[in-house]
Amino acid sequence: MTKAVKTVREAARETEVFYEADVVVVGGGPGGHSAAVAAARNGAKTVLVERYGHLGGLATGGLVIQLLLLSDGTNELQIAGLCQEWIDRLDAVGGVLYPSKEELGSSDPEVLDRWRNVLFVVVGGKVRMTATVDPEWLKGVLDDMIVEAGVELFLHSWGTEAIVEDGKVKGIIFESKSGRKAILGKVVIDSTGDGDIMASAGVPFEDKLDPNLRFANQSLVWRFGNIDFAKYCYFRDAYPEKHRALMAKLLKETGGIRTLPIAGHRNDVCWFNNWLPGQSATDIRDLTRLEVTMRRVMRIVQRFYQKHIPGFENCYILDSASQAGTRGGRRMVGEYVYTREDMKNGVIHPDTIAVCPVTMNAPMGDPPEGYATRGYIPYRSLLPKEVDGLLVACRAFSADMVANDAFNWIPHCIAFGEAAGTAAAIAVKSGVEPREVDYTELQKQLLRQGAVLPDVPIRNEV
Ligand SMILES: Cc1cc2nc3c(=O)[nH]c(=O)nc-3n(C[C@H](O)[C@H](O)[C@H](O)COP(=O)(O)OP(=O)(O)OC[C@H]3O[C@@H](n4cnc5c(N)ncnc54)[C@H](O)[C@@H]3O)c2cc1C
Repeated sequence: MTKAVKTVREAARETEVFYEADVVVVGGGPGGHSAAVAAARNGAKTVLVERYGHLGGLATGGLVIQLLLLSDGTNELQIAGLCQEWIDRLDAVGGVLYPSKEELGSSDPEVLDRWRNVLFVVVGGKVRMTATVDPEWLKGVLDDMIVEAGVELFLHSWGTEAIVEDGKVKGIIFESKSGRKAILGKVVIDSTGDGDIMASAGVPFEDKLDPNLRFANQSLVWRFGNIDFAKYCYFRDAYPEKHRALMAKLLKETGGIRTLPIAGHRNDVCWFNNWLPGQSATDIRDLTRLEVTMRRVMRIVQRFYQKHIPGFENCYILDSASQAGTRGGRRMVGEYVYTREDMKNGVIHPDTIAVCPVTMNAPMGDPPEGYATRGYIPYRSLLPKEVDGLLVACRAFSADMVANDAFNWIPHCIAFGEAAGTAAAIAVKSGVEPREVDYTELQKQLLRQGAVLPDVPIRNEV
């Protein structure tokens, strides 16, 4: 028998319409930032609503500072567009570390040796495009892009629900220090990562997480400063037995919670990845447990590394993430559910809007035997079934568990966002619903914006 839940009845109320736009984007992470910039650059009056005081989502506030695997081991990029613009703008201020164009795809031992200490650059014996960023510079760069594009930005504003009338999303409600407000728009883009808005609109979703997959583990990332990462890597590689024994000892001290230092964009900073299984990203009890547990573990790790690990003798806790590290949560069951089979067979969908190098579970390597090296994500994976006026452009895109786990990285979400924002602007301009957007027009516009979409045959007739 299910236990009755005690409830209170809230009074009905009138809510102020605070702003009206063509395109309303909720969530300013990699997906939402890109959606807003793309929509505004394509001429739509655009508003972006973000719950925290900065943009970038997990790529900044989450301290997940690697734009991972934009290439598949060949010498060409599969993801470019706005992701490349992030890198170029950061490069101009010394806020990013990445291999050069000439190094991409290289298996030259000298080149591999140069990159051996930076995770996910050398994968399967070849150099891939993975960029490590400075999260504070990135916050600033993302602000600049929003301001320059003319997006109306509301920070400290938490999107709570969709306004739905006759099967169409007409806007959103948000809560803030200024109170509870409404924003109306012709197209709403849910980029909350967790699919908060689509769930409130009654869009079907799944949220089961296979415990064997990477994305079933949540985390709270932190950074240490005043380290010598090269010295640490030398110790780790030259004395593997000693290193292994120390890590086993640390694992006991953390109560079995795994942690891993990863190179920052400078030798004196690193970030610590970590894995806490069995937590839900949409359960506040789990989120609270995650924060408290991981900050305890962070302190144990700092003391341990300082005492035992060469390169960390003078380390200090630089910061811990303001955004909890969610690898997997709600996934829309949309117009098309992109599957493991699609990924395995490299199915090229006619409405492909993003081409993603295939990665499978962490630690990542080449795709398993028999797998294609590139996945082709269709526009329909961003479109809900039945509900109009809505797109989902974030890690909640419509895919089965295995495919979502393999393709919800930062560059991939940037590509989804760029496609959704561009599609929303086309929909507004043409006076049609997002599901009626001509995907060829969308693909051509994405190419004009610098996306690459390799292998995708794009119809020439319009
Ligand atoms: C520990 C960890 C390590 C990872 N490692 C890597 C890596 O090395 N490289 C890589 O590419 N990817 C990595 N990932 C995956 C990647 O970080 C995410 O999948 C990616 O950031 C998803 O982008 P997003 O835009 O969908 O969501 P997010 O980055 O989560 O952004 C969502 C944004 O929406 C905001 N928001 C949420 N709800 C609301 C709301 N209701 N109203 C208003 N705003 C809201 C959030 O504050 C945030 O700004 C890692 C993830 C984790 C957790």
